[in-house]
Amino acid sequence: MESLIIIFSGLLGLGLSARWTWWKQKTAGLPVLVYHKIGHPPKNSKLKSLWVSPENFRKQMTFLLRQGYQTLVFSELLKAAKSESDLPSKSAIVTFDDGYQNNYEHAYKILKDLNAKGNIFLAYNTIGKINLWHNPETEPWINMLTWEQIFEMKESKFMEFGSHTMNHPDLTRIPPEQVKWELIESKKQLEAKLGCEIAAFAYPYGAGAYTPLIRNMVFNAGYVFDFSFKQGKTPWPWKPEKRPIDRLFIRGDENNLDMHLHLTRGMSRLV
Ligand SMILES: [Zn+2]
Repeated sequence: MESLIIIFSGLLGLGLSARWTWWKQKTAGLPVLVYHKIGHPPKNSKLKSLWVSPENFRKQMTFLLRQGYQTLVFSELLKAAKSESDLPSKSAIVTFDDGYQNNYEHAYKILKDLNAKGNIFLAYNTIGKINLWHNPETEPWINMLTWEQIFEMKESKFMEFGSHTMNHPDLTRIPPEQVKWELIESKKQLEAKLGCEIAAFAYPYGAGAYTPLIRNMVFNAGYVFDFSFKQGKTPWPWKPEKRPIDRLFIRGDENNLDMHLHLTRGMSRLV
């Protein structure tokens, strides 16, 4: 009933627009949300959709929890995979790519407040620095997480971590030897610092997620889970040989109708 009200009120507001996927069939699978920056975009940002305001993020997380979802961290996913046990029936995973300081300032605090959990993919060489891989003319440089913040989040148990390489390269555009190094070195360094297994990997720009050669290198490096940037939910139990774990990209302006459609249809809008 609640979801009907959400759809109905959303549709009224949208003038029954077919751009939203309310007309699509519901799909099964694990919803994995992907965020980048939680905050208000600087004026000169050309990637504004990658910014979600703290107010919207809180609303989206509140909605997720009210729908009965349980948020998991990577170690819970790993435990289930190793013991071949099922995940709780309404599981969701909240992820953040890159490791921006605003994930600590806003996302972590909101999650903790709501008693929900998240996971951050770190690009090792940017920790304590800035988002060097961006061209500052299109996306301003901002602070990345510091080790102090990472340790605090880890201790709290509300946030866990995965690898997003050493330098955030497009893995399809560098030599295989370098790909191998980006994968192995980031896992090794993160494990040494954090003292736990780093089982999850996310492809920078989503590049390489559907390239068999690169996927093989990810698994040879010892990762158990690889996360793409393709829109969708992933059938669970997951069959890694078939495809990586797809994600639901939550844009800055999305509302509860979008969230409902993401969670039930694997996408909210066609464009
Ligand atoms: Zn990234």
